[in-house]
Amino acid sequence: MAGLTLITGAGGFIGGQLTRELLESGVAVRAVDCKPFDRWYFRSDSSQNFILDLRDFGACKKATEGVEQVYNLAADMGGMGFIEANKALCMISVLINTHLLIASRDNGVSRFFFASSACVYPDYLQRETDNRGLKELNTYPAMPEDGYGWEKLFSERMCRHFREDFGIATRIGRYHNVYGPLGTWDGGREKAPAAISRKVAMAVLSGRHEIEIWGDGEQTRSFMFIDDCLKGTKLLMASDFVDPLNIGSDEMVSINQLVDIVEEIAQIKLKRIYKIDAPKGVRGRNSDNTLIRKVFDWAPSISLNAGMEKTYRWIYDQAKARAEDRSFVAAYD
Ligand code: NAD
Repeated sequence: MAGLTLITGAGGFIGGQLTRELLESGVAVRAVDCKPFDRWYFRSDSSQNFILDLRDFGACKKATEGVEQVYNLAADMGGMGFIEANKALCMISVLINTHLLIASRDNGVSRFFFASSACVYPDYLQRETDNRGLKELNTYPAMPEDGYGWEKLFSERMCRHFREDFGIATRIGRYHNVYGPLGTWDGGREKAPAAISRKVAMAVLSGRHEIEIWGDGEQTRSFMFIDDCLKGTKLLMASDFVDPLNIGSDEMVSINQLVDIVEEIAQIKLKRIYKIDAPKGVRGRNSDNTLIRKVFDWAPSISLNAGMEKTYRWIYDQAKARAEDRSFVAAYD
């Protein structure tokens, strides 16, 4: 059993659910985020809970004191709308990972997980909707997503060199679009599965049977349910595998197909309004899971239908509770 485990970004979506799972399996957890406690998606009295801004080196020293393992899930991030409009903010997250690595080395941390992203893959491999899957070796020559992707790629390399030069067992998971209940579903940082669930829920609640879709809806992606993300993360952290590894689903769909799935769950048909000039990201993206299957004899496999059913129901309940406030419904009119 590991000693004290630090989870950064613990007030966020993935960090909150990882905290819950590790506490349930008896791990001693220190949970850290910069948000006030009332905005954490999950918080338990069984963990040590700190509010710290981890861009600051002193905060990283405090966070890693007495810690054996670190899961670094803290980053200033969001869906395509957020990362295309906030490239500098996304890049400033480099301070979090850099300061955390230095503090981890100084405080004798033995293992360190970094949450990287499919946004490290080059744009030139993602210009067609029919994407056969991005392999880990496809990363170079580098041309990642501007801002957010460059930060992730730089931080990946820093993890590698801290392993080679200072002996910290760094592990790098490249997440591909994670979704599920208890995540960001409005406010501008939400990703496609949550945004579409919210728009469909609002159409059901308001009786206005329309949905706005960014782009022409033919852009493709794969989406991984949170339970698969947590399983892959824990497997990678416990393993001897040192190179970056895709943790993503290879069930690729277009955004139009994702809307079909949510409409089916909600038992509704909506008029689609395409906002062609909205942020769309790359044209086609999918995870190639050959390597993760080889390493763990496992890959994310929860179907999009099953995962979206749970996600839509949770977001519908949030939207319904919020809709009791009439001004919120008006904002969507
Ligand atoms: P999230 O936004 O829900 O959680 C990130 C948390 O980090 C937030 O609670 C935020 O307050 C915290 N944070 C930001 N700046 C901080 C700072 N300076 N100090 C301390 N805490 C800070 O995001 P998430 O979806 O849970 O993502 C977790 C990690 O996984 C991030 O590194 C993200 O880039 C990566 N990732 C996520 C996805 C996805 O689809 N969700 C995909 C690829 C990679």
